[in-house]
Amino acid sequence: MLVFILNAGSSSLKYQLMNPVSKEVLAVGLCERIGIDGVLKHEFGDDAKLKLEVAMPTHKEAIELVLKTLCEGEGKVIDSINDIDAIGHRAVHGGEEFASSVMVSPKVIETMKKLIPLAPLHNPANIMGMEICQELIPGKPNVAVFDTAFHQTMPDYAYMYALPYDQYTKHGIRKYGFHGTSHYFVSNEAQGMLDKKHNTRVIVCHLGNGSSVSAVLNGKCIDTSMGLTPVQGLMMGTRAGDVGAGALSYMMSQENLTIDGALDVMNKKSGILGISGKSSDLREVLEGMQAGDERCKLAVEMVAYNIKKYVGAYVAALDGVDALCFTGGIGENSALIREIVCAGLDGMGLNIDPTKNNKRSQEPRDIATNSSTARIFVIPTNEEYVIANDTYKIVTGLEK
Ligand code: ADP
Repeated sequence: MLVFILNAGSSSLKYQLMNPVSKEVLAVGLCERIGIDGVLKHEFGDDAKLKLEVAMPTHKEAIELVLKTLCEGEGKVIDSINDIDAIGHRAVHGGEEFASSVMVSPKVIETMKKLIPLAPLHNPANIMGMEICQELIPGKPNVAVFDTAFHQTMPDYAYMYALPYDQYTKHGIRKYGFHGTSHYFVSNEAQGMLDKKHNTRVIVCHLGNGSSVSAVLNGKCIDTSMGLTPVQGLMMGTRAGDVGAGALSYMMSQENLTIDGALDVMNKKSGILGISGKSSDLREVLEGMQAGDERCKLAVEMVAYNIKKYVGAYVAALDGVDALCFTGGIGENSALIREIVCAGLDGMGLNIDPTKNNKRSQEPRDIATNSSTARIFVIPTNEEYVIANDTYKIVTGLEK
């Protein structure tokens, strides 16, 4: 079984070709600058790489080129597109309509179109990816895997905003949460790593360019830090995270900004980039801090402090904690952020072992001291595997 995994964004798309049963990845790649010029980066075999600069006026040319690259020439990994058994699509916003992955049908696409106001940049690109795959890989099933689905188990008192109730009934204004495939994968792995099998209380910190925390009780999400859109919650690469409405409206009046202008600041110019003034990339900001840059130091302290506050809140939401998990580029790689987040949390049963924390590894691991009541796990996420596996289960009828 081979699943073509597609993550179509507004001007880029990521793909993988994976066997969900053996977990073998045949190829992985990225098309960038779609609609501008076009660059394809394709990795295959044992660390082989290919870079093609080819015009990609639309997503259709980009996907055509990806399929051609998979089947022909230097980067070839399959004989023809008929070797692809199914396509799994990362879909961003499933609203309240999708609590699990689904086979793509005209009705599913119609429902996703209705959800466009909730994700105006992402859902149109996801839908386009589905329609293009139906055309270019005819007769093969397409499955949509939603970023929001895992969080649909949140209780109403956690997902509601304290706005007038009819804002929810009229417009669906509530917290949805994102990165669901990662929170699901990591919390599920953590459950497997815990000795305890019942009443498992897991906190997942997915820390990448976009970051979010979730509280997972017995495998079900009960709270998460992102909201109606991904701008809420933690401070991220370029997103502000939690900022009061008063501060936002005051900034708008002082800077003479429209709503779109203010959202552009909140989404693209804030977070680690906004505070450091240097970069949205934590590695560069850590380097700046080491070189004595005070704003880089402030950015790092804010990142860690924000995560720590959510961890504390979610220990309370879960009535305790059995495992705190770190994942994503920052969570998997930055021992310093993990150290600052966990410092002083012994009272909550979280006791980090500095030697284990500083040891580098690509494997899931426990970095808590032996005497720590709760475990602290570093678990590399694998969102593509969740997409491939959900696709496999749906097309083979293992899951309806
Ligand atoms: P995305 O959310 O785009 O998938 P990633 O999960 O790859 O992003 O995370 C990117 C972030 O991880 C960047 O801020 C990057 O600086 C950070 N990162 C990657 N490696 C390290 C490292 N060794 N130390 C600190 N931060 C790192």
